[in-house]
Amino acid sequence: MRKATLINAVTRRQRPYRNNHPLAIPRTALAIDLIRAYDALNDDELLAGRVAEIEELAWFHSGDYIAAMQAAEANGRLRDGDRERYQLGTVENPYFDHLFTIPARATGGSIQAAEEVIAGRIAFNPAGGMHHARADCAQGFCYFNDPVLGILRLRQAGWRVLYVDIDAHHGDGVEEAFLDDPEVLTLSLHMDTAYAYPFRGGKLTDCGSEAGGRTTLNIPLPQGTHDAEYRLLFDAVWQPALEKFRPDAVVLQAGTDMLAADPLGKLAISTECFLDIAGKIIETSPRHADGTPRLLVTGGGGYHPLLLARAWTGLWALLSGRALPEAIPAAGADVLRGARWDLDEDAPYFSGLFTSRFDHLETKKINQQIQILALDSRNHPYFLT
Ligand code: ZN
Repeated sequence: MRKATLINAVTRRQRPYRNNHPLAIPRTALAIDLIRAYDALNDDELLAGRVAEIEELAWFHSGDYIAAMQAAEANGRLRDGDRERYQLGTVENPYFDHLFTIPARATGGSIQAAEEVIAGRIAFNPAGGMHHARADCAQGFCYFNDPVLGILRLRQAGWRVLYVDIDAHHGDGVEEAFLDDPEVLTLSLHMDTAYAYPFRGGKLTDCGSEAGGRTTLNIPLPQGTHDAEYRLLFDAVWQPALEKFRPDAVVLQAGTDMLAADPLGKLAISTECFLDIAGKIIETSPRHADGTPRLLVTGGGGYHPLLLARAWTGLWALLSGRALPEAIPAAGADVLRGARWDLDEDAPYFSGLFTSRFDHLETKKINQQIQILALDSRNHPYFLT
């Protein structure tokens, strides 16, 4: 087994989103329950998430936005003008109890994860990955940008960081934060914003700034991109990016909304492919002297809780160096069956950890558009200079 830390940055008493919100489903807690059902977590591998300090949030976020979040929690409501100024209290970023504490804990978890990595371990914070949040406002279900703060913690150690975002959506908030920093390379593979949130940016031609050394890589994916296509595109950029950038650490945002059955995603990726990609990232990440990968992994999107729990259980197994049996143990099946959500018609198909009816997708031909994308991505200005 590898030296790995799993950060639990949720408290079960706090259920933030209301019933009609896509995040009003069991996520991190369910994944940890499934991991436990596999008996794949030792006590010394688990770290309770701590709430990020105000000073830490202020590494990236504006003081008035942090204060507005705190005031909302203290007052039990938003103030006039918060909607316009901070995008709070909208359908996308609703008000809920503990509005400050819940995202601040998810963020503290990613800072802890960075510290675990600096200390020589590999770390996973499934409650993190809130990649859309901006310095001065909430965006796309995200209040504080924990990947940015985790990366900034690694930068404080003097490390160059390669951020790779496999969430179905463009990692726009992280990209924007490091646009002018040549010491952070951001690579995002995502649904083309021509048809998907956030509906702007994330094009192949969005290559970053001159000052930032053009260290912004975007791969916009057509609707229905399948495993073979995804692998082709990932391989076209991953190894060249690693070799040219030579990071000291990798940060992976591992949202599961790229999986075929996700209700908000429009890609056709299998759990097997998701785990293969994660495996490649683990195997090729920079290493500590003892061989432990310098890798910080966060959660991210993912709106099908059973798929999410399986994918993150498989991911934790890879990160911690465990081999799990494919059949889900009885206790694990109970965990999945007991998940409260209202689209659970797939439940009977979840007898195996890595396979489901969605994972036996017909192997299709690689679309010409994808072949062109793969070729064009090799001509990214970053690789040509
Ligand atoms: Zn997403």
